[in-house]
Amino acid sequence: MSDLIQLTCPTCGAGLAALPGMSTIKCSYCGNEFSVHQTAGEMVLEAFARCPICQRNDRVEKVSGIVARNTNPLSGGLSTTALAQALTPPSLEPSPPAPDSPTYKAAFRTYRRARGWGIGLLIFSLLFSCILFAVNPLAGFLIMMITGWISIFLIVWSARKTSKLKKGFDILWAKWRASEKAWRVAMNRWQKLYYCSRDDVVFIPGEGRAVPPNRMSELL
Ligand SMILES: [Zn+2]
Ligand SMILES: [Zn+2]
Repeated sequence: MSDLIQLTCPTCGAGLAALPGMSTIKCSYCGNEFSVHQTAGEMVLEAFARCPICQRNDRVEKVSGIVARNTNPLSGGLSTTALAQALTPPSLEPSPPAPDSPTYKAAFRTYRRARGWGIGLLIFSLLFSCILFAVNPLAGFLIMMITGWISIFLIVWSARKTSKLKKGFDILWAKWRASEKAWRVAMNRWQKLYYCSRDDVVFIPGEGRAVPPNRMSELL
């Protein structure tokens, strides 16, 4: 423990503990990374990321740090500066209703009930018309036809409705899962973004591309 060297984060002023021989250090408060240089026994921190426009690292800052610093937790996370607003991470669209949500449950229940009625009516129609056949074959036949068709309609209708609802549901969720995956990739890249205040650009270190903050999404 005595080997730890206490440093101050050049960006946010938080305390950093470095070990001798470390070449990079990351501030756990603002997320900025620095390379550590030892000069005459003293440790000097330098921003890790180099801006592709000015090739310097003296005015770069991690985007996530800027956003965190300028977001007011009391206003429900609303950004307080225009820059932080432009650098806000991409948001994930809300997920579609779950399979067990009340709306879906109610619809499935209706279709199940219709199928139940259909099956019940089919059994009744077979039994009743069998009895009736013995007395009056024509009446028995007519009643079997009518009730039989109604019950078959109910059974087929509920089966088709149920499968249509399930299919629509699967499509919605597959779409949402794809957008969630894309969002994760974008968030992953957003976490790597740096901002250079000299050139007013954002960039991912090592990728050589820089764009103004309002075009940040091109890098994600
Ligand atoms: Zn910091
Ligand atoms: Zn620059």
